[in-house]
Amino acid sequence: MTTISTIESDPARLAGAGGVPLPPSEPDRNCPLCPRLASFREVTRAREPEWFNSPVPAFGDPDGRLLIVGLAPGMQGANRTGRPFTGDYAGDLLYATLLEYGFAKGVYQARPDDGLTLVDCRIGNAVHCVPPQNKPLPAEINTCRPFLSATIKTMPRLRAIVALGRIAHETTLKALGLRSAAAPFAHGAMHQAGALRLYDSYHCSRYNTNTRVLTPDMFRNVFAKVRADLG
Ligand code: SF4
Repeated sequence: MTTISTIESDPARLAGAGGVPLPPSEPDRNCPLCPRLASFREVTRAREPEWFNSPVPAFGDPDGRLLIVGLAPGMQGANRTGRPFTGDYAGDLLYATLLEYGFAKGVYQARPDDGLTLVDCRIGNAVHCVPPQNKPLPAEINTCRPFLSATIKTMPRLRAIVALGRIAHETTLKALGLRSAAAPFAHGAMHQAGALRLYDSYHCSRYNTNTRVLTPDMFRNVFAKVRADLG
């Protein structure tokens, strides 16, 4: 059953509060703000010089009404190819689902030059750099959040956000300056914040699908609801 909650904004928590201007929506390719991730980036660049190995920018339409927020680039996926969710298992399920519900067009071939385009939709991540073991630290999530806030602010028609997993859900709420107590993460939940709706889904990782925490049908149901609501 879909859980629906209404959440109120908290302007004091908006990223950039206190008069500090928001940064550009995409970090520099050598962003030094998270020392652990910057060091890890250098190690990976030395080991795999042909890979992207930089903060992965959002992909898709800034005028889109839908933003999907993942956790962080996968080592063999976005960190390798430079496009969110491209090249690993999570992308297979995500892009197949986006194509099914009309949020993408073309053929997904797990390459950034496969010609796939997003329709009314954009994809970003809570953390822009690949973390060791796919586990960003809380301080790294906080440090990267202003870039997510800036991504959101560059989407003037935004009406829906799908958060993939609890971390994406919680950092998105903070990026929006929303109080989280009334909006706990739950797969299939929808949280109404003014004109914006935040939808929760378990992350479409191989681990979650292998363990049946998330089935393809469960994932499709989230996007079916978004499609029905956006029209
Ligand atoms: S995760 Fe974000 S803030 Fe941290 S180094 Fe990468 S781009 Fe910079």
